[in-house]
Amino acid sequence: MAARHARVIVLGSGPAGYTAALYAARGGYSPLILTGVQKGGQLVTTSNIENWPAEHAAVLGVDLMERFEEQAVRFGTEVLFDEIASVVLTERPFRLTGAEGEYTCDALIIATGASPRYLGLPAEQRFLGRGVSTCATCDGYFFKGQSVAIVGGGSTAVLEAIDLSNIAGSVTLIHRREEFTAEAILVERLKQRVAQGRITLALNQMVEDILGTDAGVTGVRLRSTVGTPTRDLAVAGVFIAIGHRPNTALFQSVLKMDTTGYLRTRGGPGPGATATNIEGVFAAGDAQDPTYRQAVTAAGSGCQAALDAGWFLSS
Ligand code: FAD
Ligand code: NAP
Repeated sequence: MAARHARVIVLGSGPAGYTAALYAARGGYSPLILTGVQKGGQLVTTSNIENWPAEHAAVLGVDLMERFEEQAVRFGTEVLFDEIASVVLTERPFRLTGAEGEYTCDALIIATGASPRYLGLPAEQRFLGRGVSTCATCDGYFFKGQSVAIVGGGSTAVLEAIDLSNIAGSVTLIHRREEFTAEAILVERLKQRVAQGRITLALNQMVEDILGTDAGVTGVRLRSTVGTPTRDLAVAGVFIAIGHRPNTALFQSVLKMDTTGYLRTRGGPGPGATATNIEGVFAAGDAQDPTYRQAVTAAGSGCQAALDAGWFLSS
């Protein structure tokens, strides 16, 4: 089957990808978005988004991402569900191969975002889907009235602990330090829930093992980081919320990246800020941003990448 050609292909359907597609479509480039397996990106795994500008009432992540798609499609973006497994960026046009077909393009915008990190315990994979989850919004309801633990101290972990305290019977937030890196407003809400007895904090604790039977998780073994003895906590669910790693393995040894896999872009002022080391290949969103990792910053860099791609194509 012949490869499908588009002048601009956008890889990824999170805030960066849809915004890039919107601008490329309005620029007259009829872009093609390849959504990847997580259509809508990370925000479809969360509940209320309260910091999307101009949405003064909270909006559900799933609803917000549907609106992103509708707007990009309205101006001529084509959206295809495919996950790209390999790329050839050393020849023109660029070639991409996915599960559903082959694609070629003159300019490529990479907006592949990030995926959840795991603790690296063998039991974590053993119990994945049977008590271990990386998405409280997706799986929290299965633990209605039961005891659960959340691991992490960033915004995701704190938000998930708060959300789960509306569903689960008891919620313990396990964090390896005492200070949270979560947004201050979330930490404030967490403290309120702790004061109400709806969330228990297990600070300076690491999960040493996840305990269970063939039926699923029964608890976690906690190791203290400050010398108190190891203890077991009985829970039916464990939510791992310890951050994300960029989805850039596809570009290993092809595109420049930092030691943790974030793509390197030119940066700085002026056209080409989103350019990678290959002319015509641009990167936006969490895949190239180890620092800010917000929906609005991802969308902003998606806009930049589309403008950069347009300037590249017309030069
Ligand atoms: P992502 O949203 O990660 O999207 C990446 C896209 O790339 C996906 O569609 C995926 O399917 C696709 N993809 C990956 N690999 C391939 C491939 N090989 N081929 C094709 N496609 C591929 N930010 C906020 O501003 N406010 C919040 O309230 C907020 N809440 C959050 C809650 C949670 C639980 C999490 C995890 C994050 C939250 N964030 C929030 C952060 C925000 O979700 C991210 O910063 C943002 O989604 C990044 O957008 P992105 O487009 O770069 O990537
Ligand atoms: P994050 O900010 O990177 O936080 C990761 C947390 O996990 C940290 O507390 C870290 O602890 C801990 N951790 C990392 N590795 C660990 C390990 N091996 N064992 C135990 N703990 C470990 O990730 P995030 O919370 O997913 O947030 C990602 C981005 O999304 C951030 O930019 C955030 O602002 C954004 N976000 C925003 C909202 C919102 O409502 N505004 C909600 C969710 C996410 P240390 O602190 O000790 O390193």
